[in-house]
Amino acid sequence: MIALEIDRVSKSFSSRGDLKKALDDVSLTIPSRHTHVLLGSSGSGKSTLIRLLIGVLTPDSGSITINGNIGYVPQDGGLFPHLNARDNVTLVAKTLGWTKEKTQARLRELQSLTSLEPSLLERLPKELSGGQRQRVSLMRAAFLDPALLILDEPLGALDPIIRTDVQNELKSIFNALGKTVLMVTHDIDEARFFGHELTLLKEGRVVQTGPFEELLESPKDPFVTKFIQSQRKWDGHS
Ligand code: ADP
Ligand code: MG
Repeated sequence: MIALEIDRVSKSFSSRGDLKKALDDVSLTIPSRHTHVLLGSSGSGKSTLIRLLIGVLTPDSGSITINGNIGYVPQDGGLFPHLNARDNVTLVAKTLGWTKEKTQARLRELQSLTSLEPSLLERLPKELSGGQRQRVSLMRAAFLDPALLILDEPLGALDPIIRTDVQNELKSIFNALGKTVLMVTHDIDEARFFGHELTLLKEGRVVQTGPFEELLESPKDPFVTKFIQSQRKWDGHS
């Protein structure tokens, strides 16, 4: 089953009278329950693609088909600073008129899936660590049980020392939730760790889509190798 299909999508922005293509003929298909990683340098069009998916932008041409609803975790986590973690997580359910019991049950479920200690729910975002905030943002995005989870650079702001721990946690949460995930990163290690498949963008175009090994062993363009080589800290023998 296909969770997300992007078919030949283009999007331009005008700046000072010039039309600049932020996305040029981008196609992408994600099967259900797969984690797909969108990879590319700054300015390559990653956030524009996400903004088209969540509906704050519309494509100039092409089509986007999403099977179900979306849970979105913005780049900075997007938590409301004046609300404690519990209220951040349950806000949308409240506005939809969920009963206390239903809300409480879902909260407990997500809390155990993300292993977030119950007492932390009473804290404000600024009283949580980066990793804890990350889990709260994810709980909020997953609350209504969306078919597709979209995360923009979810680990970008984390201290490198705890980053590996949080990566492991996040991956097991994805598995436990059983969701289709689209994740944005500029970090090849992270892309390799999370992605069943990767899509490398360059200047608004898809350079290559496939599993990491395929990009490594059968690059479709010299840029693929260049991009991987530029970050090869994972290579044990160099
Ligand atoms: P990334 O997230 O990969 O860093 P973006 O999608 O943010 O890249 O940007 C892709 C290109 O589109 C960049 O050249 C950027 O300057 C341009 N762009 C993005 N949003 C806008 C906008 N609202 N108006 C004008 N140009 C934009
Ligand atoms: Mg971006």
